[in-house]
Amino acid sequence: MKTHDKLYQATLEWLEERGINIEDIAELAFNLQKPYVLELTKEDASESVNAVLKKREVQNAILTGIFLDKAAENGYPEEPLLSQLVNDNSLFGIDEVLALSVVNIYGFIGLTNFGYLDKEKPGIIKELNNNNKVNTFLDDLIAAIAAAAASRIAHKTKDNGNPNIDNDNFL
Ligand code: MG
Repeated sequence: MKTHDKLYQATLEWLEERGINIEDIAELAFNLQKPYVLELTKEDASESVNAVLKKREVQNAILTGIFLDKAAENGYPEEPLLSQLVNDNSLFGIDEVLALSVVNIYGFIGLTNFGYLDKEKPGIIKELNNNNKVNTFLDDLIAAIAAAAASRIAHKTKDNGNPNIDNDNFL
């Protein structure tokens, strides 16, 4: 298996291990973009999330974030860093910085969507905030993937007038 395929498989497996599947993220992207793209389907949203997850920089960000969350869960980083990670201190900020590497892939519109998800915490993001695991990095990464997937739909729709038509520029 090529390195890129290994990274993609690992990304899906690590997300699943943390209780996340593509449909959970697609739901967020769908709700973000539905008001603007009336013919949008949940399948379109899933396809877009999957396209985002196929990007190497996204895979690297997700694997790194989940690794750090798991390390914190196991008490690995020394204090004072451990408390910053376990408590998801809002002034920590590095979780958002990592997530921004995903958000920026499809341009500025991704940032607006990310800010909205970060503030409102709909769906799976709220669940991640409330379960008993450390999801300091993962909650921001999920918001970022959904924001990027929504932005991708916006770009495809702008170019084609229809989110179903493939546009190689945004694969
Ligand atoms: Mg966070």
